[in-house]
Amino acid sequence: MRTLVIVDVQNDFLPGGSLPVPGSDAIIPVINGLMRRFDLVVAAQDWHPQSHRSFASNHPGRKPFEETEFHGLAQTLWPDHCVQGSHGAQFSSALDPGPIEAIFRKGTDPQIDSYSAFFDNGHRKATGLAAYLRGRGAKDLYLCGLAGDICVYFTALDAIEEGFDVHFIVDAATPLDPAAHATRLQALRDRGAIVLESRGL
Ligand SMILES: [Zn+2]
Repeated sequence: MRTLVIVDVQNDFLPGGSLPVPGSDAIIPVINGLMRRFDLVVAAQDWHPQSHRSFASNHPGRKPFEETEFHGLAQTLWPDHCVQGSHGAQFSSALDPGPIEAIFRKGTDPQIDSYSAFFDNGHRKATGLAAYLRGRGAKDLYLCGLAGDICVYFTALDAIEEGFDVHFIVDAATPLDPAAHATRLQALRDRGAIVLESRGL
């Protein structure tokens, strides 16, 4: 069976949001077209308290996109985004919600960021996604969403570690930093992931 994992297709990561990925709205029709061709569709949702430490606004004198460190982990400071219950945290209204069977929220702990849909960045707490997928008999995962070089990438890394067969749908996962994205896609290939386009899926 084939499972589509949609990562963070939320208003704040789309044009007009607080942390927009340029051109990212182009992936929504691609994802909508793919969903009904999969046996199972799940989604991840970035879901931060306003007090989240990844927000530059919670560090007086710091600016968004500066680099810092939390508990020995490198951390980029971000603009406030995907605050629990806000419009920016909602999935795009253009995304077809019908086929999505389960939603896994991440980034809820104010003390640690969570790029991957499986674990926080320190691998301290699981979101439950891996157990859910195993319970459903999922093995082949097809990943898409935002941003391709951050949350989709780290979801892919954890999926490989968790023993899933990972397919990264490159035209349905827009990166924030295209140069970093190329390096990261190669890192995924080197770990055995398949990087492919949506055409023909
Ligand atoms: Zn976030």
